[in-house]
Amino acid sequence: MGPTEMYIDGARVGAADGRTFDTLDPATGSVLASVPRGAAADVDRAVTAARRAFDDGTWGAAVAERERSRILLRMAELVRDRFDELVELEVRDCGKPLADARGDIDEVAFMFEYYGGWATKISGDIPPVGPDAMSLVVKEPVGVCGLIVPWNYPMLMAAQKVAPALAAGCTVVLKPAEQTPLTALRMAEIAETAGVPAGVFNVVTGYGPEAGEPLLTHPAVDKISFTGSRDVGIHIQRTCAAQLKRVTLELGGKSPNIVFADADMTGAIPGTCAGVFGNQGEVCSAGSRVFVERSIYDDALAAMTAEAAAIRLGSGLDPATTMGPLVSAEQRDRVLGYVDVGRSEGAHLAFQGDVPTDPALANGYFVAPAIFEATSNDLRIAREEIFGPVMTVIPFADVDDVVRLANDTEYGLAAAIWTRDISRALRTAKAVRAGVVWINDSQPAPSESLWGGYKQSGIGRELGPYALDAYLETKQIYVNLGGR
Ligand code: NAP
Ligand code: MG
Repeated sequence: MGPTEMYIDGARVGAADGRTFDTLDPATGSVLASVPRGAAADVDRAVTAARRAFDDGTWGAAVAERERSRILLRMAELVRDRFDELVELEVRDCGKPLADARGDIDEVAFMFEYYGGWATKISGDIPPVGPDAMSLVVKEPVGVCGLIVPWNYPMLMAAQKVAPALAAGCTVVLKPAEQTPLTALRMAEIAETAGVPAGVFNVVTGYGPEAGEPLLTHPAVDKISFTGSRDVGIHIQRTCAAQLKRVTLELGGKSPNIVFADADMTGAIPGTCAGVFGNQGEVCSAGSRVFVERSIYDDALAAMTAEAAAIRLGSGLDPATTMGPLVSAEQRDRVLGYVDVGRSEGAHLAFQGDVPTDPALANGYFVAPAIFEATSNDLRIAREEIFGPVMTVIPFADVDDVVRLANDTEYGLAAAIWTRDISRALRTAKAVRAGVVWINDSQPAPSESLWGGYKQSGIGRELGPYALDAYLETKQIYVNLGGR
């Protein structure tokens, strides 16, 4: 399992009070490892170390950008060197299939490479202010950052925050999700080997209210970047407001997936299904509200059902598996609860697959893919984020109709549009209130580009150069040139 202790101020440590908790293998329900149950005292140690490393210039001020860049590039290399090991660890801790974990870890390596490049390219501006003065607008790291991440892409969500924060010159305390702490601990080992100085990168494991909450209230933390549920996001925003801490929120969604009648069905059907069932549906941007133009509705539903029936559930470690277990018993029960909700709301359960019969997986948290037909966007299964392999299909009449339906949600993370008509695609893309819109695709999230939500899907942006803004302050230095 590799290291299972926390990483604070360059040292491997247990919780101050000695407590631990278990992380499980969701395919079997068995204990994978026991990790420290961090709490306020541990967070305080980590934040104090991060504060010291920031204030004494260990990272942001005294380390030249080139050195920061080299260290991040080394981290990328180390992730590649340990690729298979990291992939297996991610599969075991969160359940996803091997192919999905390979995609995640590959992107983790690229994330460090990409932001390693940026470390030497963060620059300001010199706006003209007349002949007798010079105004320098410079970018500076925001300071100590608390990074709180979920369990669905454990190492990738962590890298998505750690890499730009370190590139910007910030020091960080990372709090991984309680269900999936192992790759974050491995990331600390990689950071240390790559030459990240003590105190710059710290990992505190534990439960949200115990190991996450103290980051929100600690006066030495300047910024919180959070990825997770909307409700915890609201709590974070509210708590951080007391100290006016900077906050970035990447939250959930109920994203529309729109299939027009003229779409290339050889792409639209598998793409739509992958957009809902990929990663077991545990995806913030899942296109879980599937709108299908009425004239092709029956054919599309039959094709999506056939596609879903071909999904093979099993242990993520089995190369034949295309859908793993959900992350926890709690998540499984939550998702199965929504299948009951859909039935009781009168939606038609058009398809439900089978869970694995292998006795070795009898205690795993499997949920078979399900497809509901709904006639209204008002049902709970069309409005609430399920975060599991449950698709809700709704027919629509025309562009205006589907844009209205797509936007009839409190969320605004993503949308997918399938059509051969480029004008219709772009007209729809402009009209949908969401931070990410895919045309003839679903779910790609290239690290060079942009991620983030409109409305209740979040505040701020990640990925690409946009993520750097979340870890930078901007300062004006005004120089009187003495001409007046
Ligand atoms: P969650 O319950 O909100 O938890 C996310 C993280 O916050 C975990 O590390 C959690 O710790 C921590 N946390 C919980 N309560 C806290 C508190 N009071 N103070 C500080 N931290 C606290 O979300 P989740 O169930 O892990 O993940 C699923 C959600 O994440 C979905 O809504 C999904 O849409 C969203 N998500 C969004 C994106 C995006 O980019 N927009 C990406 C992935 C996931 P514990 O693990 O100990 O509870
Ligand atoms: Mg686990």
